[in-house]
Amino acid sequence: MTDDTQDFFEEGALVGVLTAEPLDRVLDYKAPEGGCWLGAFVQVPLGPRKVMGVVWGPGRGDWDPAKIRTVLKVLDVAPMRGEMREFLTRAGAYTLTPMSQMLRLATRAPGLADPPSMRKLYRMGFAEPDRMTDARTRVIAVLEDYGGVSFTLGELAEMAGVSSSVIKGLVKQGAVEEFDTPRDAPYLPLDPDRPGKALTDDQAAAAAQISDGVRAGAYGTTLLKGVTGSGKTEVYLEAVADCLRKGRQALVLLPEIALTSEFLTRVKERFGAEPAEWHSGVTMTERRRCWRMVGQGAAGLVVGARSALFLPYRDLGLIVVDEEHDTSYKQEDGALYNARDMAVLRASLNDAQVVLASATPSLESWWNAESGKYTRIDLTDRFGPAVMPDMRAIDMRAEDLPGSRWISPTLQGAVMARLEKGEQALLFLNRRGYAPVTICRACGEQVGCDFCDARMVEHRFLKRLMCHQCGETKPMPEACPSCGVEGKMAPVGPGVERLAEEAAALFPDAKQAVLSSDLFGSARALKARIAEIAEGETDIIIGTQLVAKGHNFPRLTLVGVIDADLGLQGSDLRAAERTFQLMRQVAGRAGRAEIPGTALLQTFQPEHPVIRAILSGDEEGFWRAEAEERRVTGMPPFGRLAGIVVSAPEAAAAFDLGTHLSRSDGPIRAIGGMVYGPAPAPIARIRGRHRVRLLVKAPKGAPIQGALRQWLGGLKLPGGLRLSVDIDPQSFY
Ligand code: ADP
Ligand code: ZN
Repeated sequence: MTDDTQDFFEEGALVGVLTAEPLDRVLDYKAPEGGCWLGAFVQVPLGPRKVMGVVWGPGRGDWDPAKIRTVLKVLDVAPMRGEMREFLTRAGAYTLTPMSQMLRLATRAPGLADPPSMRKLYRMGFAEPDRMTDARTRVIAVLEDYGGVSFTLGELAEMAGVSSSVIKGLVKQGAVEEFDTPRDAPYLPLDPDRPGKALTDDQAAAAAQISDGVRAGAYGTTLLKGVTGSGKTEVYLEAVADCLRKGRQALVLLPEIALTSEFLTRVKERFGAEPAEWHSGVTMTERRRCWRMVGQGAAGLVVGARSALFLPYRDLGLIVVDEEHDTSYKQEDGALYNARDMAVLRASLNDAQVVLASATPSLESWWNAESGKYTRIDLTDRFGPAVMPDMRAIDMRAEDLPGSRWISPTLQGAVMARLEKGEQALLFLNRRGYAPVTICRACGEQVGCDFCDARMVEHRFLKRLMCHQCGETKPMPEACPSCGVEGKMAPVGPGVERLAEEAAALFPDAKQAVLSSDLFGSARALKARIAEIAEGETDIIIGTQLVAKGHNFPRLTLVGVIDADLGLQGSDLRAAERTFQLMRQVAGRAGRAEIPGTALLQTFQPEHPVIRAILSGDEEGFWRAEAEERRVTGMPPFGRLAGIVVSAPEAAAAFDLGTHLSRSDGPIRAIGGMVYGPAPAPIARIRGRHRVRLLVKAPKGAPIQGALRQWLGGLKLPGGLRLSVDIDPQSFY
């Protein structure tokens, strides 16, 4: 725990410094000349190196005083606040992540130790230019329009539509002033008092309820459930406005970078300036600026990916988790945290409000609302004339379809009808690539990855086979790697690329676009494509999960789901929930504007309860039935789970450790829990490592972290073995 009783350390006093190095303790140092504050970012010597750390509290004083070294320098950034230290400590304890790794999450910006560098900015000067040209007039007009605002050379040139030499010419004459400022410029302030859209009664009531919490400056979580297009974004932007009016910061988390640009535009329309951005598509310079400005309170609104939760906000008053059910909020590498849950934790430590927005909430959030932990607000109508699409099944058992085709005659007819009316159709298949399996028709061999227990997926676009587990690729073999017969390798099953081939043959005159995450080198390219589609450049969209996430296609009126049964296979705890969410989300893409939409689901089991729930639209009925099933089996949210993966280069070594763990399960049984396994993981080998899983199940409310620490704490991992613990696991591969 952090100790806040002392917050300044005089020169020479012992301080405990947390570093991002994989050590299991805070290290003692002497405070530098001038002393240092609790939470200060510092540089300390560690062996022969200099590393960054944070003053975490007083030193422990259990080291030889003669060997204790002195902090080298205090960095020029705002000290980490007590709330942030508390958040990292609690999040680390919850997810069983070492503090060094938590600190790394909180310092993911380059050059924090560097002194602030300078850059040149341009603003209105005092002299008159000797003569005016059109280009010069435009520059002056832009500067006048924005009264007093300064620009970078690039910004000003772009806005005025001139080359940079025009601006330089004006600088020489004193008509434009050039000056140096720190590179990490504050973000333009957002103006919450610009008029927003006129909200409908429902929207206004929802906004007022959330804003009450924001204005009160107290903790609270609201589940904002509303069909796609009901105006959830409009509603939470009002809450953002109230947060800004209070002088506090707001964070909006989005599950997908590709959604950011649409959001930026909406923020700019609403507040007159863009928010700070934090995600993997942002340049290093911008990341640094964002990190520093957030810390100084000079960024009012941040939009970002899950890791934006670990920025050093000065006063965070509101966190919105948009599409809260989205699985990408769970970090599946390194620190295994769920950003949705950590948002609630952070808000509770900071008297902030959380808004979880979704058309199809996770069962956990639905239950938290049901049981009164969260407030729930429903938006039941789509904005304007748009209505939810009509949903129907296509019973594939009754369709006449040859073996290597996937678009049924019924679906084909429906697509045709839309095309004739000049509307768009979406064919949805949640499988990247061309074909999921490549088989040798001579011997039956299926091409697998050399490093994983997974089949290679053919990607024709890349002209290679790819492993979706480890990313390894290889060329399509001419001859079978097993029997050596040539020319017999054949694709089995469809991916989106193959579906596109079929669609092109069936609808030769239609313009089609394939949307799949692997087909776009950059978020920018994807964004450009999405904009084209929205403008109606495309007749048929063929897409994976990527299209389910909130993009707006006004002319889209038909969604055809190629394989509605896909997600129901397998034994994943959340298979039903995921299928329900995905199908509803995809269907929600249809009929967003004036023309009503239809969703057709191709299925071999139309009487399956999940398929029936999807079609009937009885969401509450679905959640209740699903919740009841989990209650009976003691599964989350009615029980707790932790997934353990042991991996090793040798299968036997992984199994031995797994068996040892299951035999020494005393600490787990002591809290009323059970250890299941070891069993080979569903993907038994990844990147050459054999994987064994154990599952810990404990009653709700049981202190599972403490038990796990006791169980695994003393463990000495033999060389080559690795063990990872996933609290509240979302995936079980
Ligand atoms: P959601 O986030 O629930 O999918 P959005 O907030 O994106 O819904 O709203 C869907 C569309 O309807 C957007 O284009 C939005 O600008 C528009 N819209 C929603 N509410 C209003 C309103 N009150 N006035 C004008 N346009 C609105
Ligand atoms: Zn692989």
